[in-house]
Amino acid sequence: MSVTVRVPAKVNVQLAVGPARPDGFHDLANVFLAVGLYDEVTAAPADELRVTCAGPDAAQVPLDRTNLAARAALALAERHGRPADVHLHIAKDIPVAGGMAGGSADAAGALLACDALWGTGASRAELLDICAELGSDVPFSLVGGAALGTGRGERLQELAVGGDFHWVFAVADGGLSTPAVYREFDRLTPDAPAPEASPALLEALRTGDAAALAATLSNDLQAAALSLFPALADTLKAGTEAGALAALVSGSGPTTAFLVKDADAAERVAAALRASGTCRTARPATSPAPGAGVL
Ligand code: ATP
Repeated sequence: MSVTVRVPAKVNVQLAVGPARPDGFHDLANVFLAVGLYDEVTAAPADELRVTCAGPDAAQVPLDRTNLAARAALALAERHGRPADVHLHIAKDIPVAGGMAGGSADAAGALLACDALWGTGASRAELLDICAELGSDVPFSLVGGAALGTGRGERLQELAVGGDFHWVFAVADGGLSTPAVYREFDRLTPDAPAPEASPALLEALRTGDAAALAATLSNDLQAAALSLFPALADTLKAGTEAGALAALVSGSGPTTAFLVKDADAAERVAAALRASGTCRTARPATSPAPGAGVL
């Protein structure tokens, strides 16, 4: 018997970053939107914990106990006083180290898959609690849809979304380390104000208005990501020239996100980005996507 869970990637439609806190984290106002690019995590009985991964970026994924999916299984097993005797297989379609929360998605997926496989019957609140321990973006991977994250991003308030939004994601050649991007943010922004969610952006989500969302997208980490990975400016320009309504770096990058009018525009902008030579590949996707779910 095995259990497979499908988990979406995310884009931050607003990422407002405050100053570094004494514990090293930053206070955030983080508006997450789940997008329809998915990893699938399959949990099957095994003699001991084992992780395998398949997909175009699989070589970059650690298969030891630092893998976030393995850490999720260990955390659930420990709480329920049982061995983490599971084989986790990750079918990876979310770009690795791309600012789309791929590792977080796998953690949420593994947690749900192990809970179902082991019959631990953890409550939603307990699952969310474990997610928050594993990382700031993990609770959202479980919940999906759209949500405002505050604190270091892990305190979630679900948001209503009034329609579908169409995107293209340009996958960069290479990755960016999230901690390195935050360090660069601290260097570039010594006096960051307290982060606040944009009422205009929340209204654009609520009404499903792509033009209004395009006018309000923002990412405080974008300057830091561009400083560490200057070639991203060429990708942003190529997508904008191809007709995207708006372009921004996704989270800590280096994936770039392009909001477009509809599915046809997504195909056109993706083709133009692929032909531009400024990215490794470009993927159309729709939002909001549901959170982690057993298939
Ligand atoms: P975020 O958007 O949450 O900042 P990200 O999308 O930039 O994350 P990830 O794909 O989650 O980055 O990977 C970041 C690093 O985490 C990778 O370079 C890899 O070494 C490590 N990692 C641990 N577990 C996983 C996993 N299951 N999938 C991908 N990377 C993992």
